[in-house]
Amino acid sequence: MKHLTGEINPWLGTSFTCDCGAEHHVPIRKVVIDNGALEALPTYAQERGYSGLLLVTDRRTREAAGNGLLQLCHEAGLPASLCELTEDEHGELAADERIIVQLMLQVTPSIQAIVAVGSGTIHDAVRFVAHKMNRVFLSVPTAPSVDGFSSVGAPLIIGGFKQTIPACAPEAIFADLALLSKSPRSMIAAGFGDMLGKYTSLADWQLGQELFGESYCELAADMTLQGLALCIDHVDDIALGTELGMQKLMEGLTLSGISMLLVGHSRPASGAEHHLSHYWEMRFLQQKRRALLHGAKVGVAAVQMAARYAQAAALSAAEAAAAIAGCQARGETPTPARARAAIEAGYGVIADQVLAENGLAAGAPDPSAAELDALAERIAERWEAIRSVCICVPAPDVLAGLLQRVGGPATVAELGVEPELLEDSLQYAMYVRNRYTILRLGQWL
Ligand SMILES: [Zn+2]
Ligand SMILES: [Zn+2]
Repeated sequence: MKHLTGEINPWLGTSFTCDCGAEHHVPIRKVVIDNGALEALPTYAQERGYSGLLLVTDRRTREAAGNGLLQLCHEAGLPASLCELTEDEHGELAADERIIVQLMLQVTPSIQAIVAVGSGTIHDAVRFVAHKMNRVFLSVPTAPSVDGFSSVGAPLIIGGFKQTIPACAPEAIFADLALLSKSPRSMIAAGFGDMLGKYTSLADWQLGQELFGESYCELAADMTLQGLALCIDHVDDIALGTELGMQKLMEGLTLSGISMLLVGHSRPASGAEHHLSHYWEMRFLQQKRRALLHGAKVGVAAVQMAARYAQAAALSAAEAAAAIAGCQARGETPTPARARAAIEAGYGVIADQVLAENGLAAGAPDPSAAELDALAERIAERWEAIRSVCICVPAPDVLAGLLQRVGGPATVAELGVEPELLEDSLQYAMYVRNRYTILRLGQWL
């Protein structure tokens, strides 16, 4: 059994049996978060025997890092070429069919490794293409904006809808601090917002464990918390964009990414705050509105979910039992029929997909009334344990204050999400994933 030391390196490339009973494996072999990290990339590629590199950028990251990295590869005698992904007619770059085809056409037989030089979108396109075309995937994040650099799944927009397609984690990550500190403030604030969401995602995971016996890995949870602590402890450096701040934020994001790799799913890092964010994103996409930064949405959504946790934490066991009894007396028990109606109302053309995600597709067996009664009883009986989970989530104004310190949006108004959309998401976003969260618990209270 391994123990947490606050460092990333001891975890890389390891496989071990954990106290949680699962076998854990971290496929990432190398992480360099340092000044001059880019210089380490050609050396690494040569050590691994990769002779042809394709550096994938957009217009902005080509100038910021792509050209420089190409030069470093050439100086090292390493064959490399550039692929600049082009923006669409709205000047945007989304991980969709268009750029995937553009990228695939550039992957000639001599390319052995594909390097994502950019933010999340470029990483998701490269992650997918490298996996499909059986190439090595290397990562050069140019902004510390999400914890998804190291993830396995590629969220892609196919036919106008976002779906996460299983792909692969990068083999190595090279995060240059000088480069990160030059990234836009909004992207730094977004990375911090993605980390703040861990307060609520971890609490949601504990609710699933407490009420449904969901498997829970203390090590993954602790690793995520440790990454979060690095960010909270260095909030002012992060706000100023200093190299120390960038180092701590990037380490935090990477630890969060590794904790997801350990358990093989995103439970430690993604709960109701991410479901809210995904719901907003889906509606923006349907309305063809300009996308908002993932972490900016997650930070604001975390404030909203912290408010829900604070409401639950304020209830005594007797008050919670009375609220649950009231819910049943009013006929507002969250039955499959109510869930189906909510999904039909909230998801439009993708309702069938969401019904299937929730095990509510036509023909699937529904939980019986007795099972729902048993759940109501369980919530009432275990209220003290549930309450102790709720109490650990910081107050919403604390989270909002932290977001303000890094210069990110803290309210839905600052983010650009209308009150009506917020209302809809508080009702419907819980169905984005079939996962127990504070939003689902809130249906009883
Ligand atoms: Zn996220
Ligand atoms: Zn474990």
